[in-house]
Formats: sequence, C-alpha cells, structure tokens
Amino acid sequence: MHKLLLPLFGLSLVTACAQAPEPYWVDFSVRPNEEGAEIVAEIRGGPATAWVGFGVGPGASPQLVDQIVGVAAFSATGEALEIVAAGRAGYRIETNGEPWRLTYRLRLRPDVEDDSFYRASTRGDDYLILVGSDAWPRFYSDPTPLTRSPEARPAGPVSGATARFQLPTSNPAWRVVSAAWEEAPNSFAMSQHPVGSIFALGPFDTVQLPGVAGLRIALHPDWEIMTDQVEQLVGALLMSHREMLAPPQNTRALALLSPLPEPLSPRGDLRTAGMVRGQTLIVYAAKAPLVPSNHPGIAEAMAVFLGHELFHLWIPTGVQVTRELSWLSEGWAMHMGRRAAVATGWLDEAAGTRRLGLSYRRYLDIGGYRAGSLPAASTGPEDRRNLLYLRGELVFRLLQLEWGRANPDRPFERALWESLETAYDGIEPLDSAAVRMILTDLVDATTVRRYVEGQAPLTPDALGLAGQ
Ligand SMILES: [Zn+2]
Repeated sequence: MHKLLLPLFGLSLVTACAQAPEPYWVDFSVRPNEEGAEIVAEIRGGPATAWVGFGVGPGASPQLVDQIVGVAAFSATGEALEIVAAGRAGYRIETNGEPWRLTYRLRLRPDVEDDSFYRASTRGDDYLILVGSDAWPRFYSDPTPLTRSPEARPAGPVSGATARFQLPTSNPAWRVVSAAWEEAPNSFAMSQHPVGSIFALGPFDTVQLPGVAGLRIALHPDWEIMTDQVEQLVGALLMSHREMLAPPQNTRALALLSPLPEPLSPRGDLRTAGMVRGQTLIVYAAKAPLVPSNHPGIAEAMAVFLGHELFHLWIPTGVQVTRELSWLSEGWAMHMGRRAAVATGWLDEAAGTRRLGLSYRRYLDIGGYRAGSLPAASTGPEDRRNLLYLRGELVFRLLQLEWGRANPDRPFERALWESLETAYDGIEPLDSAAVRMILTDLVDATTVRRYVEGQAPLTPDALGLAGQ
C-alpha cells in the first residue's frame, strides 16, 4: 500500500510545483505631471515570458484602461524588449528571465463632460488620487487573465511591491497620503500588489484625532462643508460604530475628504460620492454655493452619509460577502448611517424616523410592493439596485425591532456582526446560505422567509412606521 501511495504523492507534488505561478517583485516610481503621471516599474522574478495587463477596480469604467498610453519595456541595460499586444490593454513581453523595466503614462485629466473620473483625477496644479486598481499593471505567468475584461482581471502573483512618488517641486504643500506602510517619506511598501491600496497626492492636511485610535483624517484645503466640525464628526461616527459593533479586526483607517471635482457640481444643495477600498475611505462632497457651510440640513445629511461610508470598514472590509449579499452591505450601511447620526446627536430621533418614513415611501414609489427576494434581486439588473438597498435598510429596521423585543440589553447590530465575524474565515466571502443560517439563529425563521426572502410585503405596521 505504501509503495503505491508514495509515487502518487510524489507525482502530485511535482504537478503542484509546476502549476504554482512564479511570483513577481515590483518597484513602482510615480512622477505626477500636468496630464496625470509617468510611471516606471522595475520588475524582478516572474517567468521569461511575462504577461502584463491593465485592469480596473469594482465600479470603475473599463474605458479607464484606454487612458494608459506609451507602454514600453526595457532590459536592465536599457535595450528595448519585444512587446506584443495580447488582449485588451494586455501585452506579452520577452524578458529572458532577467530584471526588466516597464514604463507607461497615465492620462488623468478629465474631459469637461466626464462625470466618472472622480476615482483617479488631476487638474494639473491640484490633486491626484490614484485608486490602486485603476492605475497599476498586473503581472501574470500565463495569458489566461488577459482574455478576461479589465474589470475581471485578478491582481496576479506579485509577492512584494513598493510605490515611490516624486512630487512636483512647484507644489511644496503636496504630500502622499495612504493607508499603505510608509517606509520613507512618500515611499510605501506592500506585501502584495498595490491594487488594493489608495494613494492620494495633493495639499492634504492630516490629523490623528485624540481618542479615536487608528483613525487618520486627510483633509483637502478646498473642502468647504462643516469645515470646523467635519473631523470631529468623522471621529464621533466611527466611535459610535465601534461601540455598537465592536471594533473591526484591523483598527487602522484613513479617511480622505476631498471637494467634488468641478464638472460634478451639486445638483441639489449637496452632492456626495464615497467609496471604501481596504482601510481607506474616500469621500467627495460639494454644496451649492448659496448654502452656508454649517447649514443644519447639510450637517444631518453629512452625518448620515459619512456614517454609511464608515460602516463599510466593517462590511465589506472586515467581513467580505458575495455579490448576492449587496442588499446586506448596502442596506446595513444605510441603517447604520442613520443610527449613528442619531446616536451622535447630529440627527434627532424624530428626524431619523421621518427619514425612514421617506425611504419607505420612495421604496413603494419605485415598485417596492413587488420587490421579492433580497438575495435574488442583488444579482438582478442594475436599475433594481436602489430598490434593493432601500428594502435592505427597511429589513434591518424590522430585524432590529424584532430582536430588541426579546433582547433589550444587546443591540441587534452587534449580535449580527459578531456572528458574521465568527463565521468568516478571512478568505472565502460569506454567501447567502451562511447568512441565512446566522439570521435564523437571531430572529424567527418566518421573519427571514417573509422579509429577506420576500414572501411578504413590507408594511408600515411591521416597520413600526404606522401613523408616520
Ligand atoms: Zn455603501
């Protein structure tokens, strides 16, 4: 028996070694210019034939890869290497297994009508935000990832990377802000590919709030909303989440507050956009010129909005979930935004309930009575997404009420967070089946069937909104 097993074991070991991709080590140097940036990548490791492709992160336009121009490859001694196009924004490069260099330019100056550039942009003399996955090439050991579209390309086998920035001397106030490990001024080291890291370049002021361990806030000098209070507001909302949910595993976080780039002027009194990538929260906001900086309506809306965005440090950063659970991450974020705004005193209880009533009315207006199953709708068409998030928020309210009747001393949010954190192994995103089991542990199975799986409509009575 042993004799038979040994050769088999040996064989599978050989196969495994042959399949493991050879890792790359990449040192990026970034020099911002009027148009965007010039980037040089020094590469070690990887196979003699390197497969290189640009990609974009979740939610970004695949068109972003067309803003990368002048891609070229050189040997360590400066001779041009053979480079052949392979797939969209992809290349095959013969490196002979020696260290080599990749150069390219990133055009980040927005067109006037472009309203999607906020993830990575520059106005020449202003600031530049390099959202990791939208600016860095990925390196592969075989051509398969290049057959995928830019938004579906994985980070690739990069075992270590650095990103070094040469800031323009014409803008002495500029600095680089990032949640990545800063080894030396403006030089960052990462154990993996920088696709998950955000680097913001510009005249940011950074502060570490006393009493909110681990949170750094970087404020752009042109930020004009609640200028005297916004830092305390972010700190208070984060503390409120930590109290209600318990701190996330990784307690370091960076909040970048930037004015909304000009072509995206506010449509109403206030316009906001936010995204969370890893430990970094990027927030853009602008108000209509006539609205005062400390207008109470703006403060309420900002508290709810920032509370929502900060919650994403828990989900999806702390615990990852599959796409059909977007109702959970977005609905819970909306719920937490409102709860934290009330808990910190920026929104009074009655105004919070009024907001929820408005959500409910909007939900019915856009067809909520036939919304159906939350997990099924999460993977449905894009235009159903808003409906789904509104239903998610309302379902959270309902679950919280039901839990609260039996457990007045422990918030539902904490019970759910702790269950999710226990179930999450840190690698595999939790799916609907796992969350269904957790929810039926906390509340009645009938409630889950009715409201999460959509067998019953959401009524004002069930939501405790009757008479609103
Ligand atoms: Zn969100």
